[in-house]
Amino acid sequence: MAARKGTGKGDDPGARIEALMREIRRHDVLYYQQDAPVLADAEYDALYRELQQLEAAHPELARDDSPTRMVPGAPVSGLESVAHRTPMLSLSNTYNREEVVAWRDSLAEYLGMDETERESLRFTVEPKLDGVAIELVYEGGELRRAITRGDGKAGDDVTHVVRTIRGLPHRLDPGTLASGKKGAADERRASGEQGAAGEVVAVPELLEVRGEVIMTRKAFARLNERRAQAGEELFINPRNTASGTLKSLDPAVAQQRPLTVVLYGLGVVEGFPHDGQAHAMQRLAALGLATGAETRIVGDLAAVLAHHDDLLARRDDLPVEVDGTVIKVDSATLQKRLGVRSRSPRWAIAFKFPARTGTSVVKEIQVLVGRTGALTPRAVVEPVHVSGVTIEYVSLHNRDEIERLGVKVGDRVVIERAGDVIPHIVGVSESGSGAAFVMPDRCPVCATPVAEVEGEVVVRCPNLSCPAVLKRRIEHYVARGALDVDGMGSKLVEQLVDGGLVTSLADLYALDVDALAALPRMGAQSAGNVVAGIEASKTRPFARWLYGLGIRHVGEHVAEVVAEHWGSVEALRGATQEALEGVAEIGPVVAEGLAAWLADADEQAVVDRMLAAGLAPAEPVTPSAADGVLAGRTFLFTGSLQHMSRREAREKVKAAGGKLLSGVSKNLDVLVVGDKPGSKLKKAQELGVEVLPEDAFLALLDAG
Ligand SMILES: [Zn+2]
Repeated sequence: MAARKGTGKGDDPGARIEALMREIRRHDVLYYQQDAPVLADAEYDALYRELQQLEAAHPELARDDSPTRMVPGAPVSGLESVAHRTPMLSLSNTYNREEVVAWRDSLAEYLGMDETERESLRFTVEPKLDGVAIELVYEGGELRRAITRGDGKAGDDVTHVVRTIRGLPHRLDPGTLASGKKGAADERRASGEQGAAGEVVAVPELLEVRGEVIMTRKAFARLNERRAQAGEELFINPRNTASGTLKSLDPAVAQQRPLTVVLYGLGVVEGFPHDGQAHAMQRLAALGLATGAETRIVGDLAAVLAHHDDLLARRDDLPVEVDGTVIKVDSATLQKRLGVRSRSPRWAIAFKFPARTGTSVVKEIQVLVGRTGALTPRAVVEPVHVSGVTIEYVSLHNRDEIERLGVKVGDRVVIERAGDVIPHIVGVSESGSGAAFVMPDRCPVCATPVAEVEGEVVVRCPNLSCPAVLKRRIEHYVARGALDVDGMGSKLVEQLVDGGLVTSLADLYALDVDALAALPRMGAQSAGNVVAGIEASKTRPFARWLYGLGIRHVGEHVAEVVAEHWGSVEALRGATQEALEGVAEIGPVVAEGLAAWLADADEQAVVDRMLAAGLAPAEPVTPSAADGVLAGRTFLFTGSLQHMSRREAREKVKAAGGKLLSGVSKNLDVLVVGDKPGSKLKKAQELGVEVLPEDAFLALLDAG
């Protein structure tokens, strides 16, 4: 039989079973994931039958994870939230070629590279798949868990669904690196210089591997065809279908909707040595894990951009929805040096394809009141599909934007889905007969006359207890990235505010089960869940609480910087505006927002009531940093450094528990000076601040 070639010879039935499983999985991946089968159906069936017969003859050798016995497990009662060992980061992204080049240049600068070194930086490039990010955890080679990305720190356990994915091994077998003769994808992989063909890859003790769960266009089309025949509602697009399917509680349902998984990254690993992205992917492939087609071309930036353009040109012909490419620095050593900035790795960027557009007619222009009281107009349009998503509402942002677009009710407009997520209006394609839009001079919710701030285009409702503002503030406070209160949907928030049960954020902590259970459509059990959720929010991390409060200009990143620097509510309350401004990464605008909040008696009264109710945010602890060699001291750099870039130096300080200031003041403990220091050195000497040459600073770090 031709198909037998190269799949384990000899008479050992155990080895033959393993070889067949591996071969069938490989063809499953080619068929289901890449729409590129290399076997005729009859040949595939022959492999399958041979495996079935061998398993029947040697039941003691048959494995549970054999493709012949992919029986879905029992349904689960709910999805459990599981923490990732290391956060699943998001990528910074751009639509702009110049920004990709600027990104490469900034990396080179960070690493202190000269122009030649910069040009020789090597990258990998892969399609950016429009699916659901996931982490698979293999322990001792066994698939233990599959966890969605969630908020990056914890996600849902969807192992029961992921086990139904065709071609995904439940147990890893050792393998060897591809020789470069098996197919185009393998050849491309092998073109990376890392990893010699034939290298043996052992099964790692721990392998956390990350990727995307997707549904191919063909699988999606077939699924919808079946649903149409059955008179069932059609799914809107492959991405949402994949996402919804992953959340199925019943794996038997999931098995009817063919998902695939494409792997592209690593979490925590033990016993999986590799020297970079391309090599790591080659090793994953050797273990039988699918790393996708069109992936892992290693080269300089020009080669990377050429591949990006090629994929863009073939965008509509690709078997899966692709919304751009992901470019990564290949070298593991450089990745480590570059590290993480905010919530994104510095060494990777998503270069997105141009957004897609569609046209529709504006039916109405509504005005919404936001969390800061800002009045935001939005267009209600005739529902229109733009790259697979139905759009009914499009934000118009503000009065100036409406004037700029000249958009009126009745106009036909061009709608673009930037980032394939948030739609916006590009322009008017056909003017209707409607009247020009006029911004209301009173809040549409509480009728308070609106306030205009000089120099701002935004018009605000100034009423501090405006129900709309309060509702949005509560929604923000309880949201996932903030205090993450389970069961607090916008319907409940609506009821709480309209019913007068909550008139400030602090009132949330006075809610009890009886009061909640008395609300319409709310049972005792849901009421209990909400109260438990609110109780749990009391000990969320300090940074998330700060973010949840909705202080002006304090986003998630700033909240983390503030939390790291001050550590507690009490300490932050003692901070002056000068001290606030002195912290690296806090600019004057942010400092002013924080100072205004600290000085606002009403806001502070809310905080007092929260603290009295038992709120005790968890203080930030970075185990390596808290007892680091620089712990408790503040640093600033001046002059040009010889052994590290400025940004690298700052990361070193943070990693060793030190804090960074943005200028010389009496709060500064150490000024590190490179070549040709400027006025900062003089000022530091006047203030009696300790001055360290770069070498001495490095010696200090090494001493730890
Ligand atoms: Zn209002």
